[in-house]
Amino acid sequence: MVHIKGGGTTMLLPYSGREGEYIQSISRPGLNALLLDAASDHPSIDIHFNYGVQYADVKSARVIGTVGNTKETFDFTGDVLIGTDGAGSEVRNGFSQIGSTIRFNYSLQWLDHGYKELEIPAGPNGSWLIEKNALHIWPRQSFMVIALPNLDGSFTVTLFLAFDSTPGFNQLQTDKEILDFFNDQFPDLVALMPDLVQDFKMHPTGALGTVKCGPWNTEKSLLMGDAAHAVVPFYGQGMNCSMEDVLKLDYCLDEVNENWSKAFDLYYAGRKKDADAIADLAVENYYEMRDHVDNPDFIAKRAIEMKLEKNFPGYASKYNLVTFCEDVPYSVAKEKGNKQDKWLLEYCSKENTANLSDEDLNKIYHALKEIKVNT
Ligand SMILES: Cc1cc2nc3c(=O)[nH]c(=O)nc-3n(C[C@H](O)[C@H](O)[C@H](O)COP(=O)(O)OP(=O)(O)OC[C@H]3O[C@@H](n4cnc5c(N)ncnc54)[C@H](O)[C@@H]3O)c2cc1C
Repeated sequence: MVHIKGGGTTMLLPYSGREGEYIQSISRPGLNALLLDAASDHPSIDIHFNYGVQYADVKSARVIGTVGNTKETFDFTGDVLIGTDGAGSEVRNGFSQIGSTIRFNYSLQWLDHGYKELEIPAGPNGSWLIEKNALHIWPRQSFMVIALPNLDGSFTVTLFLAFDSTPGFNQLQTDKEILDFFNDQFPDLVALMPDLVQDFKMHPTGALGTVKCGPWNTEKSLLMGDAAHAVVPFYGQGMNCSMEDVLKLDYCLDEVNENWSKAFDLYYAGRKKDADAIADLAVENYYEMRDHVDNPDFIAKRAIEMKLEKNFPGYASKYNLVTFCEDVPYSVAKEKGNKQDKWLLEYCSKENTANLSDEDLNKIYHALKEIKVNT
């Protein structure tokens, strides 16, 4: 649901033209609890909380660190070590430390924009104060707000804004500056967020970056999830991609008779291009959500995509390829999706798309079907 400047909403833009294709908000603590329960049911898994790795020797699968805030230390050497310790990974630092021997490449690309989480509280009796079955966007060209519904009636609101710009987080220091900015840009939100100023000042401003690195493996160690490929959150795929990593490694293990070292090689060789692709797609989608969702050509393109998805089971838009086509790798989704987007945007800028006939739609479908993918 797009909220236009000056108040009011324009329309609900569906995620797909097909029934049953939508994304769901899920509780992160709820998902963590579910995964922990599943892991603890497994007889060969021991879970140790608060063991903070400070050093990883990725050649010998060894980790050293301390337990919580105590002086207790640990020193474990495993048959293998899989580092899934997130975007700021210590295990990845272990790869950097032997960088020259494995020619380890690493890049961290920060966005100029950061984010701050705010909240629309629940209404009376846990009711939702705005449409609950939608991801809400307030696009404002160089910045935006999104809001995602929670089961308790509240919404998690996120402001994405440049750190040092006009407007920028640097200029929102005093109560007046914060309120003036929101009153000017998001007056409808101000009415829904009684704790806006306090939340704004209390909640941290997060930075957003893309980590690309490689190789992700030595003979005995492997990086997975954000530790290997942190992406900006604009496709909502970071966690999905990390979970898909696990599936892919599992397939690789099957393929090489559970030989970890060979599985790591096979996994890295197959997975790297897809991790790079979703990283690029996520940055591209940031600009699309921020700059284009209220652009007439974009809206016309989206309307055609919906019709195509409704009428042609063989068609999937870029968003659909990434989000709903599990069997399409991110790298293919990126190449095919971008080529389709380019073709459709050109079409929308030249043609009157208001009243497309079935024949027009058929022609568009076949033109898009001709697009070749090299990946
Ligand atoms: C603002 C924002 C919004 C997002 N929205 C979405 C979304 O809508 N959908 C989606 O799919 N993804 C989203 N993501 C991305 C998602 O959060 C990550 O991709 C996902 O959590 C990665 O999982 P992970 O297990 O690899 O790393 P993490 O979830 O970061 O887990 C790493 C774990 O390692 C632990 N750890 C860290 N350092 C150490 C250490 N030294 N020793 C021991 N343990 C350590 C941490 O405590 C943590 O438990 C979002 C991210 C951000 C920042």
